[in-house]
Amino acid sequence: MKAEQFPQEIRPYLMPSHAGRLSYRCLGCGSEYGIEKLLYICPECQQVLLIYDQNFARLKNISGALWQQIFDYRKMLNIDALKGIYRYHEFIGPVLPLDTVIYLGEGHTPLIAANQALQEKVGVRFYFKNDGQNPSASFKDRGMASALSYINFMVQKGYLSDVLAICASTGDTSAAAALYASYLKPQVKSAVLLPHKKVTPQQLSQPLGSGAAVFEIPGVFDDCMKVVEALSESYNVALLNSKNAWRILGQESYSYEISQDLAYDLSHTALVVPIGNAGNITAVMSGFLKFYDAGIINCLPKIVGVQSKHANPVYRYYLEPDTAKRKFIPVTVKSSVAQAAMIGNPVSMPRVIYLVQRYNEVAGCQKTFFVEVSEQDIMDWEIAANRNGHIACTHGGESLAGLLAAKAQGVIDDQDIVVLDSTAHALKFAGFQEMYFEQNFPADYNISPRQDLINAPLYVHPTDLDHVPAPGKPLKGEAFERFVSRTAEEIAVRLNLKKYTASK
Ligand SMILES: *Cc1c(COP(=O)(O)O)cnc(C)c1O
Ligand SMILES: [Zn+2]
Repeated sequence: MKAEQFPQEIRPYLMPSHAGRLSYRCLGCGSEYGIEKLLYICPECQQVLLIYDQNFARLKNISGALWQQIFDYRKMLNIDALKGIYRYHEFIGPVLPLDTVIYLGEGHTPLIAANQALQEKVGVRFYFKNDGQNPSASFKDRGMASALSYINFMVQKGYLSDVLAICASTGDTSAAAALYASYLKPQVKSAVLLPHKKVTPQQLSQPLGSGAAVFEIPGVFDDCMKVVEALSESYNVALLNSKNAWRILGQESYSYEISQDLAYDLSHTALVVPIGNAGNITAVMSGFLKFYDAGIINCLPKIVGVQSKHANPVYRYYLEPDTAKRKFIPVTVKSSVAQAAMIGNPVSMPRVIYLVQRYNEVAGCQKTFFVEVSEQDIMDWEIAANRNGHIACTHGGESLAGLLAAKAQGVIDDQDIVVLDSTAHALKFAGFQEMYFEQNFPADYNISPRQDLINAPLYVHPTDLDHVPAPGKPLKGEAFERFVSRTAEEIAVRLNLKKYTASK
C-alpha cells in the first residue's frame, strides 16, 4: 500500500522520526557515553553496557493504542527498511536514517501452533516461534541487522572506515556476522573465531560461503571469546559478539513481534528461551519492558530461561532464593546438543541480573524463572516436536523440554499460552539427529536414543533382481519394467499396502 492510501490519522506516524538520543550506559558505574564511538565495555570500570534512549519519554506522548495501529499499518508498507526489525524503528534504532538500514529478510518469523497431538502430550497450549527462518537460519540475524546497520551509519557519517568486524562464535553468530558484513563489502570485512570441531559442518560452511576469514582455535567458546576480547582491546576491530549492545537492541524485535502477533494482549502469556551467552534473554526482557513502559502491552509475560545440565551457570545462580547471597560462578561446560548455548561464563550475566530484578519489580511479582533440562530430554523433545510438523533445532527441543520442566514446577498454569523459541533451523543441527538415529552418541552426552523415536532409511533391492539401474547406466526394456514392478511390490509389502481392486 502507498503512503497516501493509509488513514489520515496514521499517516504522520508511518515514517519514523529520528528523535531518539541514544547513549551507552554502564551497568557497573552508571557512566554514559555517546554512540559516535564503538564501545563494548565501560572505559572506566570494564563492565558491560546497554543502549538507552534519553528521549524515551517522547514515545509516551503517543498512546499505546495508537502505537499498536502504527505497527499494524506498517505491515502493509512496501519500504524495505521497515520490513524487518525496523518496523519498530523508534524502539530499536531511533537515530538511524532509513537509508542506512540493512535489510536481508530478517524478523517476522512465524508463530506456529503445536498440533493437538503434541499439545495433549505436553498438556499446555503452545507455539514455536521459528527463528530458524531468518536469513542465516538463526535469531542472531536480528542483532546483526542492528549492529551492521549501525556500522553502516557510522561509515556513512565518516566516523568509521575500513572496518574489520570480528566475533567469537558457537556457530550461528559467525554465520550471521559474515552474512551481514559481506553485504557491506568492501567497506566492511569480517573475521570469525570458532572453537575447533565445536560447530556443525553446516554452521562452518556459512561464514566460509560468505567469504569471511575463518579461524578455528582449540578449546570451547569461552576460550574463543577471550581471544576475541584480547583482539578488540588492542586492535582496531569492530566486535560483533553480544557484548556489543547494538546486538541486544536488534534482538529486542523478538519481543515486539510476539506482542504484535498476540494482538498486544499478553495476559496469561509465557515465553521459554534457551540461554547461552545470555544476550537473547537480555533482549527479550528489555524489549517487553520498553513496550510495557510505552503502554503498548497490557502486562509483562512470564519468561522462563532454560539451560542444559551440561552448561547451566545461569540456572545455578538463581537456585539461591536469597538475592543477597547469590554469587555467580562460571561452570566448565560438558558436551551438549544445544551446542550454540554451550557457554560456561555468559558475557551478558550482569545484564541478566540487572534486568531480572527490574522485570520482577515492574511486574509487581516474580515473572522470571530458570530451569535446567537433561541432554536426553532435549533430543527426545526436539524429535517429538518435529514428528508433529515442526522444524525445531536442538535449542527448540531445549525450549520444549524447558516448558515441561517449568510446568512440573508449577511455573506454567493451565491458562497460559506459551511461546517457545526455536532459535535456529533444524538443519543446522542435523548431525545430532543423525547420531540419535544411528545410536552413536559419544558417551559424554548421556543420551540413549528411544526406539520409538529412531528413524532410518530402508534400502530396497529385491534379491531376485539381477539388474538394477546405476548412475549413468540406465536400464531399458524388460529389465527396466521388471525392476520397477519388483521394487514397487517390495515397498508395498513393507508398507503393508492393500492392492487396489477396480470395481466391476
Ligand atoms: C546463540 C544461540 C543461543 C543462545 O543465545 P544467547 O544469546 O547466547 O543466550 C541459542 N540457540 C541458538 C541456535 C543460538 O545460535
Ligand atoms: Zn562503568
